[in-house]
Amino acid sequence: MIEITELSKRFGANEVLRGVDLTVRDGEIFAVIGPSGSGKSTLLRIVNLLETPSSGCVRIDGTDIHAADRQISIRRGMGMVFQKPVVFSTTVFENVAAGLRIRGMSEAAIRSRVKEALELIGLADRAEQNARTLSGGEMQRVAVARALVTDPVLLLMDEPTANLDPIATENIEDLIRRINRDYGTTLILTTHDLLQGQRLAHRMGVMIEGGFAQVGTPREIFSEPNTRSVARFVGMEN
Ligand code: ATP
Ligand code: MG
Repeated sequence: MIEITELSKRFGANEVLRGVDLTVRDGEIFAVIGPSGSGKSTLLRIVNLLETPSSGCVRIDGTDIHAADRQISIRRGMGMVFQKPVVFSTTVFENVAAGLRIRGMSEAAIRSRVKEALELIGLADRAEQNARTLSGGEMQRVAVARALVTDPVLLLMDEPTANLDPIATENIEDLIRRINRDYGTTLILTTHDLLQGQRLAHRMGVMIEGGFAQVGTPREIFSEPNTRSVARFVGMEN
């Protein structure tokens, strides 16, 4: 379970997160939606230990992750996929194997893990292609495979389909559903696409100006927005 308590983040005078409280349950797909600049990426970056909170905390299974002394092992329990797919100029196979090599896994185990991940993303026949020559959607699938192959308990995805066309988007959405269903991975994703949140998420949170204005099932958020700002954001009111 991920428990975020009274989390605030300031960049200079700019208070980007203002006392965020949120619990994400194990095995859940949770979508963070909200206007540009509301703090969605900052929240994910704090959970992924790429930023430190100004105050408040993030606990994973009871451990305050920013206070813990074993940050490397906490970090290794998480995977992160960014809006722009990050791939290295080497083969698809090596891109996916990267996270396993630093863990010192045997070559045979790496081969079988990577093969399984490439089958999952539908790129098993491209293992030897240079990842930089893939399409944007294929690169994003490689980035997902790299994050996934290490068996993270938590997968964070920041606008994973923002740069993709509808078909590539559908591919990634299918992949997200399968990861969640087959591996039980907890997923937190941010999206500009309200309908994507509705299609994928068990629950979603509407972030407005650095705090969750509403958290609930997609049905609750779309049919019973609790404030005018949420209603305006989900398009019920202009
Ligand atoms: P978008 O939907 O456009 O991706 P977002 O909700 O993800 O927006 P963030 O990227 O979290 O928004 O940014 C929230 C605010 O924090 C913005 O005003 C941004 O300029 C500011 N911000 C983010 N990172 C930094 C940083 N490292 N230094 C200074 N300001 C920052
Ligand atoms: Mg963002």
